Amino acid sequence: MSKALLYDATICIGCKQCEQACADQNKLPYNDTIAAEERQSDHKLTAILTRNDKFMRRLCMNCQEPSCASVCPVGALQKTALGPVTYDASKCMGCRYCMVACPFSVPKYEWGKLFPKVQKCVMCPDRVAQGKQTACAEICPTGATKFGERDELIAEAQQRIRDNPTKYVNHIYGLTEVGGTSVFLLSSVPFEDFGYRTNLSKDPLPMLTYQVLQHIPDFVPLGGMVLGGIWWITHRRAEVALAEAHESAAQAKNGRKQ
Ligand code: SF4
Ligand code: SF4
Ligand code: SF4
Repeated sequence: MSKALLYDATICIGCKQCEQACADQNKLPYNDTIAAEERQSDHKLTAILTRNDKFMRRLCMNCQEPSCASVCPVGALQKTALGPVTYDASKCMGCRYCMVACPFSVPKYEWGKLFPKVQKCVMCPDRVAQGKQTACAEICPTGATKFGERDELIAEAQQRIRDNPTKYVNHIYGLTEVGGTSVFLLSSVPFEDFGYRTNLSKDPLPMLTYQVLQHIPDFVPLGGMVLGGIWWITHRRAEVALAEAHESAAQAKNGRKQ
């Protein structure tokens, strides 16, 4: 059965132990300066965001039908049967299409490194394959981040909302977004407050995949798809740039408030 993570912001205490555990798991640095960075980056694969007394996690959603994997020309990103969307740096050619294709703006690039890689949460695939929890779920002291069977976590999230309809926003984020994900979020405040897009398609995104392309012998439709794909990627690049500008502006604003 497929595994997943359920993050319930209403029981998160903002301790950031998940960030530390993630950094350790992925052999990334972690210190007070990095802890204060409220955004995902090439050295921070998950971030706890704080708005007043509310918290929210950001991490790769490990989508059921990940657009990052679909656009990757060399298959460096793969959805696994157990849930994680993995990344193989030895295959990656650095085109960064995944960054443009991701509807959640998750993959980051190690611009400052001589041999850069794409970085994102890969849902601890080695641990999951060994029957263990992800590092972030194992460390979480309150159970705000919970690892388990995907179907069971969905049922549990639905039950929590049914039991406490006034406590939660009536939305399991990740259940239907872009065809569903392996990370589910519950919150008492609108997800938009933390920069989550709530206008995403319920269907997997239309994708330019090499698997599709290689089954189309006709040059004309192939050319049309490539052009369509280039347009879509260019369009998304502009969207990503805009989103990053908004994120930076919001961060600067929050910084001023604190
Ligand atoms: S959130 Fe983005 S990077 Fe993560 S699996 Fe989905 S498409 Fe890929
Ligand atoms: S699942 Fe693993 S890689 Fe992803 S945020 Fe948790 S600890 Fe980090
Ligand atoms: S470890 Fe758990 S309680 Fe602490 S910040 Fe992360 S999700 Fe929240």
